[in-house]
Amino acid sequence: MFINLSHVANVDNKNHFPSKWNELPVVGERSPNHFRADGYAKRHWCFLGEIVSATKNLLGHQVVIKDFDSREGLISVLFPLDRGAGNCFNLKNFQVGHTLAIMNAQRELLDDETWCIRVDRHQYPGVHIFPYTHDNAVAVAQALYRLGPHGGVAECFNCPAELQRSPPTRCCQGCRLAQYCSSECQDDAWAHVHDKECVAYQDVALQSLFSLDFTRFMGAFSFPQQ
Ligand SMILES: [Zn+2]
Ligand SMILES: [Zn+2]
Repeated sequence: MFINLSHVANVDNKNHFPSKWNELPVVGERSPNHFRADGYAKRHWCFLGEIVSATKNLLGHQVVIKDFDSREGLISVLFPLDRGAGNCFNLKNFQVGHTLAIMNAQRELLDDETWCIRVDRHQYPGVHIFPYTHDNAVAVAQALYRLGPHGGVAECFNCPAELQRSPPTRCCQGCRLAQYCSSECQDDAWAHVHDKECVAYQDVALQSLFSLDFTRFMGAFSFPQQ
């Protein structure tokens, strides 16, 4: 699948991608920024956090993630202990350095006065683990945005050169998204960053997340099954 770039979400929009955990709405408070009067979500938002640790206790899995604006800002994400088949949210998949995405996350105050995000089973379709760092995921999202309708003048992915339409732009044959002004730039980018990024550019889950229209809520978003 190649992304439809007619609509690309802006990862720098804090209403859609809150970058601090304390920007999340509190369970039960129905903040007017996030919810309509009838209780339905006004729009989508997605909390992205990088996994710092994952442990198991009697109640479930506790995954600690850091938000990306205040990297010291840690928050626990609690998953039920689930032995059911087909559940990817088990301990071995919560790898340190990978990125957890939680659609329409809300935070909750625990008895010990700490905050958490609790994920229930019915929310699993809107939760995803990206197998790369937060920085990688955001870099790909920003690149997709630049390619979309609001991205402005197309630039080489390796240097500030504006891309010409003729002769046609050089494009990575792996992801078909990264564009370059010359074969030198393409080789240079591959040697330094793109060999690692290219797989992320082809990630169907990332593409479907960032081609979602975050400005309205037409029902809960589900990540594609991979
Ligand atoms: Zn270039
Ligand atoms: Zn590529």
